[in-house]
Amino acid sequence: MKPLQELVRPNIWALSPYSSARDEYSGHDAHVFLDANENPYNGPLNRYPDPLQRELKALISKNKEVPESHIFLGNGSDEAIDLVYRCFTRPGIDNVVAIEPTYGMYRVCADINDVEYRPVLLDDHFQMSAAKMLEACDRYTKVIWICSPNNPSGNLIDPDEVEMVIEGFEGIVVVDEAYSDFAPGKPFRTKLRHHPNLIVLNTMSKAWGCAAIRLGMAFASAEIIGLFNKVKYPYNVNALTQERALEMMQSPYEVEKWVKLLLQERIRVMESFSILPICQKVYPTDANFFLARMTDAPAIYDYLMREGIIVRNRSRVTLCDNCLRVTIGTKTENSQLLAALRKY
Ligand SMILES: *Cc1c(COP(=O)(O)O)cnc(C)c1O
Repeated sequence: MKPLQELVRPNIWALSPYSSARDEYSGHDAHVFLDANENPYNGPLNRYPDPLQRELKALISKNKEVPESHIFLGNGSDEAIDLVYRCFTRPGIDNVVAIEPTYGMYRVCADINDVEYRPVLLDDHFQMSAAKMLEACDRYTKVIWICSPNNPSGNLIDPDEVEMVIEGFEGIVVVDEAYSDFAPGKPFRTKLRHHPNLIVLNTMSKAWGCAAIRLGMAFASAEIIGLFNKVKYPYNVNALTQERALEMMQSPYEVEKWVKLLLQERIRVMESFSILPICQKVYPTDANFFLARMTDAPAIYDYLMREGIIVRNRSRVTLCDNCLRVTIGTKTENSQLLAALRKY
């Protein structure tokens, strides 16, 4: 890896962050708070939340087995994705490399930040070649994006190839593991110690069943987390979100139960799809959704919509001709989907 300073936008490296009222007193045993222009009435909502979410990070640290100093929390993973661009890529100069097809936000954030986006096609099994990824890089490539299990294809990217990218690249490698709770094998956050250039993304929006509260996580070296903390909005995770996330983190067994159920249902739905005359191929998956190649995806999508059932039409996405992406729902929801498809 290059020295971090060579990878960071110079203005961000030099930035003195906003210092909030709550940052400054910390450590003292205070009971009268007249520092932040808050209204003293309407507690507890009258108070600004902890800008560094310390209590929540302590629990996440235990749950995910990552030290607190290596955790960033944001308003969804989408905040962390945007921060990667704002910390590392100079608009109009630098570029990023990403697997293709993948999650759309990496490209949208590149466009917003005026950063060149270089997609590298996966193979017919949606697998990545580390060599092809590294070939697409030049001296202005600051970040490589890998999503595993990948969205929309659902499969894990071969961890040996991911490791080769992390080892072979001098810049930042982001591995988005939004769906790792559903996947077998060791998640990449367990390998942070060996890779100072690695950023791993997690979210509470999928297996944890908390898309509404908007809580995303980035795991990385303490230096990279320090940069994110400097650039983020001071109170980026609101008090209600922190409170609900704390509650959720206290019942991880509930989440395990959901994951087990969803994986069982996934088998049933995929088997049923594979024998539908209108389904040509069901792609293997390691997530809570799967990709299916249909005889006529747009028409089937419209039909399902008329039946009140919404799936994702991915037929215009690279390598996903005529494909629908189907999320695994409850047993009842899945049965409704299958019944509708059988009478198409
Ligand atoms: C759903 C999803 C996310 C989640 O984003 P949030 O902003 O945390 O809700 C992140 N990455 C991928 C690949 C996803 O599919």
